[in-house]
Amino acid sequence: MMKVLIVDDQPELRHVLRICLSAAGLEILEAGNGQKALAAVKEHSPEIIILDVMMPDLNGTEVCSRIRQTAPGTSAYIIMLSARAEVTSRVCGLESGADAYLTKPFEPQEIMAQLRVGIRAVESRKSFLTDSLTGILGRRAFDALFGQTIARSHRHKVPLSLAIIDIDNFKVINDAGGHAAGDKVLREFAQLLRAEARDSDLYFRWGGEEFTWLLSDTDLNGARIATERFREKVARHQFPGVGQLTVSIGVAILEELEDGTSLSARADAALYRAKDGGRNRIEFDQPQAPSAITA
Ligand SMILES: [Mg+2]
Repeated sequence: MMKVLIVDDQPELRHVLRICLSAAGLEILEAGNGQKALAAVKEHSPEIIILDVMMPDLNGTEVCSRIRQTAPGTSAYIIMLSARAEVTSRVCGLESGADAYLTKPFEPQEIMAQLRVGIRAVESRKSFLTDSLTGILGRRAFDALFGQTIARSHRHKVPLSLAIIDIDNFKVINDAGGHAAGDKVLREFAQLLRAEARDSDLYFRWGGEEFTWLLSDTDLNGARIATERFREKVARHQFPGVGQLTVSIGVAILEELEDGTSLSARADAALYRAKDGGRNRIEFDQPQAPSAITA
């Protein structure tokens, strides 16, 4: 069942919307302010969000742009609802990432029509962004979110780590058990990664048996702990019909002014070193330390 999140500081308005939407067979969630809305997005991943603009504390425009920076927010359909009808408000709302802008007072049939548009949009976005085999975000989502995440790290001056993870000797699984066995492993592996990642992280199937993990607000030390814990977790896991597997991981920490191409190239180079070094290990790409002075 698709989930709709209603965000409005007025309980009466949330109530009216709930009545309108309850006929549509949707699961309805409510939030009375911007912070609660962001928490609900993280916790419940609603597909459709009806968002009031004028709210105390965090306004709807700010909430909207923050939602867009989260994994569930990538494919959510956001309908802004505001008493302000002027063009500048509409433009501002749409530019913060809203898909539609409706004005109050509204007619129930207009909300319902917009909701149906939203349901269709969400279905096609999900199939576009999701890796169909594992159900987690895929390569296209990575391409869409990677640049945004880097820009945000630079802007807020918070560290960001990129880990590229490759399942060791995956070809053997496919060769021995056929592609069905390989697919099963990839699905289970994606679940292990999902369980390990924090809410603020983003993780993707990058292609084949390669996965990427963007660890937000994480420096070298944090990335070392997190990736080592994941490496051990995989090594201990029993994959049905296959047994134990290992991963090689390459990690790079975003440097000042660095772009995504450079960051992913460094993580990739580290991954190759991990493979060359015997697999089941993590390598970090660090800026060159000053080399020892040789007399
Ligand atoms: Mg309001």
